[in-house]
Amino acid sequence: MSENSKKLKFVRIFLVAVLLWSSAVVLFPQLAIAGPAEKLYSKAKKSFYNLKSSAEKMSHRDQWLNTVDNFLEVYQSDPKSYPAYKAIYTVGKLYEGLYKVSKNSKDLNMALGYYGKLIQEFDREQLKDDALYRRGEIYFHKKHYALAEKEFEKIIRYFPKGDRVASARKRLQTTVALLPKPVQITPLNKVAKAPSRPVAKSQKNKTQGKPTSLITQLEKLSPVTGVEGEKVASLPSIAPIKPEAENKVPLVILDPGHGGKDFGARGKHGAIEKDLNLKISKKVKRILEKKYKLRVHLTRSDDTFIPLKERGPIANRMKADLFVSLHANAAKRQAAHGIETYYLGRGLSEQAKETAARENGELVYSIPDDQTQQILADLISNNKMNDSSRLAGRVQGYLYQKAKKRYKTVKNLGVKEGPFWVLHAANMPSILVEVGFVTNAKEEARLKDEKYLNLLAEAVARGIRDFLHENGPMI
Ligand SMILES: [Zn+2]
Repeated sequence: MSENSKKLKFVRIFLVAVLLWSSAVVLFPQLAIAGPAEKLYSKAKKSFYNLKSSAEKMSHRDQWLNTVDNFLEVYQSDPKSYPAYKAIYTVGKLYEGLYKVSKNSKDLNMALGYYGKLIQEFDREQLKDDALYRRGEIYFHKKHYALAEKEFEKIIRYFPKGDRVASARKRLQTTVALLPKPVQITPLNKVAKAPSRPVAKSQKNKTQGKPTSLITQLEKLSPVTGVEGEKVASLPSIAPIKPEAENKVPLVILDPGHGGKDFGARGKHGAIEKDLNLKISKKVKRILEKKYKLRVHLTRSDDTFIPLKERGPIANRMKADLFVSLHANAAKRQAAHGIETYYLGRGLSEQAKETAARENGELVYSIPDDQTQQILADLISNNKMNDSSRLAGRVQGYLYQKAKKRYKTVKNLGVKEGPFWVLHAANMPSILVEVGFVTNAKEEARLKDEKYLNLLAEAVARGIRDFLHENGPMI
């Protein structure tokens, strides 16, 4: 064989191989190298079908939220990707599905939020009219007819060739009919009757009306799978859709302990508590905002000194829903290690008193102990204490569970009561987290491990999310 024909033969074999490979990929798409988002998406889909396969599972809020988390991980792994896009839509549907079981209107607000996120954040058009339609249906269900009207109108205006336009027109008619009529000046004895309520209407006609429609949609609940017909309309000039009543999204105050001239505890190998607290707080903030769509405010976002007395009032002024102070621990006994979470109480153990004394800083020395106890006793309201202890339980539970994943010997010091000044000034459920002892060499080293800090932040965020979700009617 000549050199040339050898070369030709090689090229031919190569081309055949390429052809075989590409047809194999077409026939068996799983052969294609799936990105991390795709992999996470198929994992999330599995958890979805798992949930849907069992009525028992569907009766547990936890199971729904776990599935939600799986889809949110898809989004986090690659927020601009197509799987992330489908995942956000599915999260909206999951919250609608959860609402069907929980009847907790917060779940519907979450669904509204995620559909809104899909519309605002992504350039892809495919699911936007579906998201608008779901938002319209939810507003209708909530009897916010004017808002529902706007969503249905957007579909007609921006997606005139989409597959939602016909149903949007129908729903728009029903919605407009329910809008309050303009007030007419009529003699007092002939005052117009208020427009009839949709519930009464749907009871008269059981095959039509909104509850049936919402439920029909929910029954179609499934993760987004195939690619639907492309939408021709574009959405460049669409008015920004505000998240559902902003003030209804819970506000979390994170309080990174110490700062500025107040360094907090110090480790032998360079760990400085104030810096560590700020670092973790920022991580928690990011997760709460991005993953759980909550509003978050930090009492300090840099190395500033804020007196202890002023921290709680910040939360009060902002009408926050909860207050979480983040700290690292210290003890004279170098062997002391572990994670603990405090809520306001009298302080039962010596350790709790020692920690509180240290965290209370200048305040504790200016007020005699018995007086402190007296003031605390008067200030602690039972409701706040119960809620705070429940919040502490959630956060501490996740902290230990997640921390143990990275370091098996992590110690669970549990939930404790303690006389912390920073907690009593806040009028909402409030806790103080001690993520570990910087005075213990092993734990100090762990607290420098970025992956460990991420796990701790994830745990605090998840505890907060669980607490807020449970605050409504339980399943
Ligand atoms: Zn501290």
